[in-house]
Amino acid sequence: MNAAMGKICFVNCSTQEIREEILEPSFYESYLSGVGLGVAILRREKIAQVDPFSKDNMLGFVSGLLTGSGSVVTGRWMAVCKSPITGGWGDANCGGTLSLGIKQCGYDGIFFTGEFEKPSIFVCDETGPRIEDASLYWGLDAIESEEKLIEVFSTKKRCVVATIGQAGENGSLIATISNDRGRMAARSGVGFVMGQKKLKAVVLRGNEKVQVADRKKMGELSGEYSKKVRKLSLPHVVKGSMLPMFGKIMSKSKKAHVMDGILSAPIMKKYGTNFANTALMFAGDNPVKNWGGSARDISKEYMKQANPDRLLRKEVKKYHCSSCVIGCGAIIKTERLQESHKPEYETINSFGALLLNHDIDLIDDLNDLCNRAGIDTIAAGSTIAFAMECYQNQLMEESFWEGIECTWGNTEAITVLLNKMIRKEGIGNIFGDGVGVATRHIPNSQKFAMIAGNVEPGMHDPRFDPQLGVHFSADPTPGRHTIGSSQYYNYMRLWEQVSWAPKVKSGTPLSNEYQVSEENALKSMASTCIKSVVDGSGGCLFAMIMGLDHWPLFQWLNAATGWEKTADEYMIIGHRIALARQQFNVEAGIQPKSFLMNPRLYGAPAQSEGPNRGKSYDLNGMVEKHFEALGCSIDGIPLESTLNTLNL
Ligand code: SF4
Repeated sequence: MNAAMGKICFVNCSTQEIREEILEPSFYESYLSGVGLGVAILRREKIAQVDPFSKDNMLGFVSGLLTGSGSVVTGRWMAVCKSPITGGWGDANCGGTLSLGIKQCGYDGIFFTGEFEKPSIFVCDETGPRIEDASLYWGLDAIESEEKLIEVFSTKKRCVVATIGQAGENGSLIATISNDRGRMAARSGVGFVMGQKKLKAVVLRGNEKVQVADRKKMGELSGEYSKKVRKLSLPHVVKGSMLPMFGKIMSKSKKAHVMDGILSAPIMKKYGTNFANTALMFAGDNPVKNWGGSARDISKEYMKQANPDRLLRKEVKKYHCSSCVIGCGAIIKTERLQESHKPEYETINSFGALLLNHDIDLIDDLNDLCNRAGIDTIAAGSTIAFAMECYQNQLMEESFWEGIECTWGNTEAITVLLNKMIRKEGIGNIFGDGVGVATRHIPNSQKFAMIAGNVEPGMHDPRFDPQLGVHFSADPTPGRHTIGSSQYYNYMRLWEQVSWAPKVKSGTPLSNEYQVSEENALKSMASTCIKSVVDGSGGCLFAMIMGLDHWPLFQWLNAATGWEKTADEYMIIGHRIALARQQFNVEAGIQPKSFLMNPRLYGAPAQSEGPNRGKSYDLNGMVEKHFEALGCSIDGIPLESTLNTLNL
């Protein structure tokens, strides 16, 4: 079989039975692999109907269809399950090297159900798959576990490991799964489900190769893209200190600017995602003070400390996920940290601006702490921001706070509360499962809960880019910042390949983005479909937004599989995957409209100062139109006719 391995593995943790299943080539033509494989299998196994907190929940590790095929920036994997946070579909996307590791073991996905009696690890090497005891590793943090497992299970060939830390072991709903010493599958509570199964780690060391239909073509396409990315570099005259100016110019602009997305390559290669911590602050993209503040609350010291040139000085090497030619990650060394992943934009914003914490160096330590414990930095930072607003408004008696002075920017409070959350100790029991659970313990706190469907959104402000809010509120995994936005849409220029994707011209009034319109609904639908294709292929969002004319996803898919599909046909597959996720939620008894985010996030009421002052929009109307474009009722229930057309 081309591109896919054509085989999946099921592990029943309760009985320790391991079995394999061959999938027909037609399966991949319907669902690709990755998230498509995950949702098809979990729906077939009727996981939507099980209690997500029970052993009947299923956890899958799925690789991308293009991983290992000779394409580039297509090495990402996903964890899938029924989310214990939303009670519906759960997935979490991750980089690192695990996606290739899964395929080298001969599988496209490995699915776990049941629950081990005692902590265990799943190992797959040249002798095949087996279960081993994990008592030597249980209790270790994610990075220590990975290092020890690599030592024990590597031969000449190094194994790859996915593991949980203490947060997953302690049953935190915001626990993550880690690979490559701190690349995180962070969302949907996937680490909780792994911990609940007492599955400490998955250890993979295989040698199988991925077959492709046209290796020469794969090489040509990859060579061309890699050459473009390698050639582009940021001119020396551009300094990190100039980036805030970019945001200031954006905040004044009243018109859309359709930039060639490939121009983001040099800045991503040099700074990684950190460029956005200062570049977009004055544009209004970075949430501040639990989404209630603005750039006006941010000190000069914050901007100085977050200057990406300053962060660059801590780097000892760049980090690339498997098959990536961009390399937006980095490993840093500081006085206190020997070697640690550089905090991403999301982490710096959620532990920085969101809390009015202006000590950016502290975030290196918080990031390392979260990576070791295996806890979601977006959710953890957002929960502390929620706690700070509850404290400010005196919603609880002083004794509740266990001596923590939970004031804005208090670095000691941030550190102590985070540690308690990880250990689930004292008030850590209240805050350690994220904002949604904490609201149940704190009366009248809902208005400070910046969540969509119980999930803390990524650090991009929908008042700056309303399409983000549509995806935060309408995606089956709410709060997800990687599905689509107007900026992503403009940069990837999908309209050059997909016949029905609306074209945006530079100079289009930005006010159009705030309208309830058929065109905006088609744009959000197109983003949903293409992101499903990307996630089925193992692709990275950052390559996608560099433009699909540069990053030839559809051409790679054809060359790898031997199919001859058009871009429009791939978008139908994306539509199928997207609606399978939506239908999973309906089968789980979820009303899709119940995920609408907190009104503060769509400007109700509008802010009176800062770059987003006066901005608000009809989120409900935009979400209804988006659902209709996808072939659902205005409440988000897929129509019978749509399900039939898509063979769902
Ligand atoms: S661009 Fe960054 S996140 Fe994406 S695959 Fe490359 S290193 Fe990983």
